[in-house]
Amino acid sequence: MINTKVITRFAPSPTGFLHIGGVRTALFAYLYAKQHDGIFALRIEDTDKVRSKEEWTDGLINDLAWLGLKHDVFAKQSERVDIHKSYIKKMLDSGHAYISKEKVVEEGQRDEVIRFKNPNKKVTINDLIRGEVIVDTTDLGDFVIARSIDEPVYHLAVVVDDFEMGVTHVIRAEEHLSNTPRQILIQEAIGASRPIYAHLPLVLAEDRSKLSKRKHGETVSLTYYKDKGYLPEAILNFVALIGWNPGTDQEIFSLSELIKTFDLAKVQKGGGIFNVEKLDWVNKKYIEKMSMDEFTAAAKSFMPENISAKLLPLIKEKVSKFSEIKPLFETELSFINPLPAYSFENLKWRQEKDLVNTKSYLQTIIDKLSTASDFSKESVKAILWPLAEEKGKGNVLWPMRYALSGKDKSPDPFIISEILGKEETLKRLKHAIQNI
Ligand code: GLU
Repeated sequence: MINTKVITRFAPSPTGFLHIGGVRTALFAYLYAKQHDGIFALRIEDTDKVRSKEEWTDGLINDLAWLGLKHDVFAKQSERVDIHKSYIKKMLDSGHAYISKEKVVEEGQRDEVIRFKNPNKKVTINDLIRGEVIVDTTDLGDFVIARSIDEPVYHLAVVVDDFEMGVTHVIRAEEHLSNTPRQILIQEAIGASRPIYAHLPLVLAEDRSKLSKRKHGETVSLTYYKDKGYLPEAILNFVALIGWNPGTDQEIFSLSELIKTFDLAKVQKGGGIFNVEKLDWVNKKYIEKMSMDEFTAAAKSFMPENISAKLLPLIKEKVSKFSEIKPLFETELSFINPLPAYSFENLKWRQEKDLVNTKSYLQTIIDKLSTASDFSKESVKAILWPLAEEKGKGNVLWPMRYALSGKDKSPDPFIISEILGKEETLKRLKHAIQNI
């Protein structure tokens, strides 16, 4: 491999959405290529005409672009059939393959297929992650490599394309390890060099079952997380840590940091767990790092219409993903709606003995705030803090917060005052007093 440019590829079949495991495969192949100044190829494996769909191809391309995993080379297997065909011909001519006359039931009317002439030998794979794997290929029999001369099946197409595209490292999901012996046999038959293999460990759900579309439905698709308002950088960061860790405490990595730090040799053999709470935590870290402008732009489609700019910092602070924004307006941010009817008993702090005290504190607050010219949360706090310290924070601030929100849970009363503004704040405080 000396003096050879590293070329990796991500080779999804367009038969469904991009799976979170697929995101990791693409990422690792991308990182490996980039850290070696190499080439990352995207190859759409659409030889299965029945199951492949154009819309899935578009979805895969868009998803990878959204993640920022840019490919340097693009190929579509269906456009390479002539190349596959020339290899099938060569193999037929050289006796490495033969036309087998048989009734193939599941293929309808088909009465012949092209089979590989298995040399029945032991194949040793030196997988970068799995280590040495030795397989006796005798059990595989003379397997099918094409349905007809211009209908190659996966094994043939993948080997020919990897060879023709100069792929040096095949980094892919563990489930393909069992396909590797067949592919090596084909490589040897066509005189192709063998790429280096790295089979990535499974992505597991929290219960350690394999994360699968059948069992976990939509929640295994990238789209699900995109629609929930996770950031692409955070998803990549999170996915990088499934089955790999840098061996340090660092957990937040930008894509360029991952390119520097990622180490294929340190990928673990055992399955890695997909933990949504971890994803939330990582995503929140990315939100924290954003400027207000970046946050506002990124969260735009998740925001209710015409919201006050004053609310944005509060929203940014509260959410770990954008889908949490709208529900905030039903809960903690509901104070921006007209004040709900509430029981005035609730104004009393639980350690306060007498509602009369509560009333007098609220009156003092009104008096102090009436003369305030600056109504920023800092200034409201500065005005009221001495009173709160003197009379007890709960005794003073609980009734104020309750009077402003009508709710057990809300942001602190200084923030609410700033957002509601002076007039509305005083109105709500007076309303409380009048009813005690
Ligand atoms: N097309 C195969 C798939 O979608 C991947 C082939 C490979 O990486 O060798 O699972």
